[in-house]
Amino acid sequence: MTASPRSGWQPGYSRSHALRALGLDVSYLRGEGSRLYYEDGGSEIPVWDFLGGYGSTFFGHNHPALAGAIVEFLQRAGVVHGQGSVRSTSERLCATLSERLRAAIGRSYHVVLANTGAEAVEIAARHAELAYAQKRSAAARWVSDTQEPDAAPIWTPAAREALGRLGISEGCEATAELREHNRRVLAAAPMLIAVERSFHGMTARALDLTHDADGRFGGQPGPSRVMFVAPDSAGLRDALLALTRSLVRVRRRLNAWDLESMNWTSVFGFFMEPIQGEGGIHPVSSALAAAWRDACAACDVPLIADEIQSGMGRTGSFIYCEQVHVRPDYVLLGKSLGGGLSKISAVAIARELYLQGFSMQHCSTFAEDDFSSHVALQALELLDAEAALAKAATTGERLFQELRALAERHPTVIGDVRGRGLMLGLEWRALPFDRSNALRLLQHYGWLGYALSGYLLRAHGVRVAPTLSRGATLRLEPPYDVPDEAVRRLLSALEELCTLLECQDAGGILGPCVGIHLSRAEEGAPPLTVRRHPVASHVAFIGHFIEPDGVALWDPTFSRIGTDGCRCFLDRIHPLSEPLVYHRDHVHSATGGSTTLSFIGLPFSSEQCYGALRSPERAALRELVQRAVELAGDEGCTVVGLGGFCSILTRNGKELRPNGIAVTTGNGYTVGAGLLAMKTMAREQGIAWPRAHAAVIGATGNIGAVLARLLASEVASLVLVGRASRTAELEAAAGQLLYSLVTHEPDAPIARALADSGFGCIVSPELEEPAALYRRVKCVLGDDSPIDVGADPSRCRGVQLIASASNQPNAIVFPEHLGEGPIVICDLSVPGDVHESVARDRPHARVVRGGVVRAPGNPDWYVPGIPLQPGEMFACMAETALMGLEGHRSHGSFGTLTPERVLQTMGMARKHGFTAVRGKIESSY
Ligand code: PMP
Repeated sequence: MTASPRSGWQPGYSRSHALRALGLDVSYLRGEGSRLYYEDGGSEIPVWDFLGGYGSTFFGHNHPALAGAIVEFLQRAGVVHGQGSVRSTSERLCATLSERLRAAIGRSYHVVLANTGAEAVEIAARHAELAYAQKRSAAARWVSDTQEPDAAPIWTPAAREALGRLGISEGCEATAELREHNRRVLAAAPMLIAVERSFHGMTARALDLTHDADGRFGGQPGPSRVMFVAPDSAGLRDALLALTRSLVRVRRRLNAWDLESMNWTSVFGFFMEPIQGEGGIHPVSSALAAAWRDACAACDVPLIADEIQSGMGRTGSFIYCEQVHVRPDYVLLGKSLGGGLSKISAVAIARELYLQGFSMQHCSTFAEDDFSSHVALQALELLDAEAALAKAATTGERLFQELRALAERHPTVIGDVRGRGLMLGLEWRALPFDRSNALRLLQHYGWLGYALSGYLLRAHGVRVAPTLSRGATLRLEPPYDVPDEAVRRLLSALEELCTLLECQDAGGILGPCVGIHLSRAEEGAPPLTVRRHPVASHVAFIGHFIEPDGVALWDPTFSRIGTDGCRCFLDRIHPLSEPLVYHRDHVHSATGGSTTLSFIGLPFSSEQCYGALRSPERAALRELVQRAVELAGDEGCTVVGLGGFCSILTRNGKELRPNGIAVTTGNGYTVGAGLLAMKTMAREQGIAWPRAHAAVIGATGNIGAVLARLLASEVASLVLVGRASRTAELEAAAGQLLYSLVTHEPDAPIARALADSGFGCIVSPELEEPAALYRRVKCVLGDDSPIDVGADPSRCRGVQLIASASNQPNAIVFPEHLGEGPIVICDLSVPGDVHESVARDRPHARVVRGGVVRAPGNPDWYVPGIPLQPGEMFACMAETALMGLEGHRSHGSFGTLTPERVLQTMGMARKHGFTAVRGKIESSY
């Protein structure tokens, strides 16, 4: 139940699917300071924005001074595109930034401007790589300045030891071997080092530097020259050590030859975020920052501080490095540098390291524009004019303490509160969610943090979101002047959310996303029992909701949001839905054996599935079933059963890739158990089976065809009902039945009736097509034909037995389609074919819905979400369990169902003591 997701986030959905599923699909109309506004039902809804544009609205939305600066720029017709000229505003920005950094950390920098954070990362990496290339040329010159020892050199003791260490001989070949050694050291591919959990952007190299442990961003597509180290001092130190070699040259010392060496580290930069942002808001301690600084300095590797999110005042100082006393070689800024209105980033490179030629080697159409620089200059002025740093520090500290207090009040749901200033993170604990299947599903697939954000937005008007690569951490990055009212609203909203989480109240959390607000938290269901002590075999059954109401059986707190709420929830969530094991229990046989059955649920309903059958979405749903089969494989199952529409979606299993797992639709036992229940009930109703007239609805389907075949052998007459468009198929099926009854079962009532009417001998289908045979019999016998076809359920009016197995989304059998007198209807369709009014308005009609069975020794069997009484299971699930009990390794009811398979499953059921449940049952599977 707690296995990790199969492959991280599944790419089968788009961002808009995800936003909609989680209630985050609002379109903001305007923003002002800490507030955003969207329209809902004609009114404007205000929202307190704590997401802060992923950290880029430190000045709030549309700060009047910044908006004013833009208006002023446009009014004086400032030049945006002045490429290839002296751009005085951007030059002023570079000088101002350089001065700010010098004032903050006492180091002088050259500043290069760019457009986005990722671009700043690319520029820093490229500059560092060019600097590395220059350093390598100097090192190559150093080693080439070597002396040539004589033919039989005498080495100093130190040199002999060094040669030994390098595995180089002391003879005349030593120089050549040393040259080869140096060549290899300098040819090592240069590497970058970054930190685990890091995020540096989404362009090619920035993504390489972004730690993507769970493949959330698609993993690293090719070989990457980035090494990731743990966020501790040993990680970087060890990595640098492993990538450091000696370069060696020869020197004459008196009468002997000596070696001179220098260390060469094939690393051209170490990227770090002083506070990791997207990785879950993790500040670096002063001690760690110092250790990293020293390790880099010792190996002459530039320390590149990515302050794109943490810089520009957000943490209460201009950059966070100030607070951890580090003066990096490179500082990257972005996000709030543009005042929340322009797109601009900056790379500050320590002056002594800056390559003078770089400005000729790098350019961008949009970078260094005076418009963005003008806004950034105004933003920098605002930092002082509004004492923004001090405000961020004070408000941040207060919020931090309040969040800590909240965490102390709710220690079971909040794991940690981290950050500095107004860059704070609240980490939710991973909970077992043993009373809420919905919350467990969302957590398992990494969506819970987003769903909680959806709740805060819809129920409390507070906008937050998880950090990009750590979905369990809520990021809080409000503007420096966030009002107290907003902070109070955030805290009270979080307080309520904590209570809902403690109660595992999925309805309360997800209800607001579908427009249903519930006032108080309600306890979820009692914990599920999950048994898994070893038994001989393990099988899996894949199912989905039959009706939207099933959601409330699956997760009881949903009962408060009603059927429409459940339907709306399924509609929103299903593009994100993934298979999960919800239940695992033993199924016992009357013979004493047992098998374990894992129930794998897919959160969509029959009606959603039916709607998808003739659309491109079918393929996506089929893939979902495929992933459920793979999950069954991971569980160690040898058999997998397909419930509900899973059979239809996969053409009765034939379109699956079972990878060695035996597949069954369970249709064999469904038909067998249904017929058995029908027979029992017919007996009780006084209907004599061999004299009864029967009808099969959906007679061309996989189940219907077999029902027709089995009934035809035993009843007096049979009507095959199917869609009008399939009349030819129906006629062919009728002819085939006529032929085989007369030829192979001459004692069957229908065969005898045919013989009495002069059809005692029928030529083979090779000589007369089955449909033609049917038409010939029909032509001669008219309404007395013992086998007939039709497209209308009212053809059932003269019959006493009806077996129904269409795949219609709605009921198709109504009271007016039935005759008077006792009738037994076996409805195997999902959803049911027989309208509920039949049982009400036709007191003589008995409806058996679905093949429902009972397994001996399992009186408490119950799978949450399946509408059956304790101890009951659907026959298709039971067939899966029977295959486990029998140790079957080959497919069961697979592809086209045959009467033989029905008989075979009935044999297994008898052997293991499974019995059909008779009586009126509400639903089918
Ligand atoms: N570095 C860090 C630390 C970031 O947080 C981000 C964005 N979240 C980036 C780089 C990339 O910035 P952008 O999205 O502007 O490319």
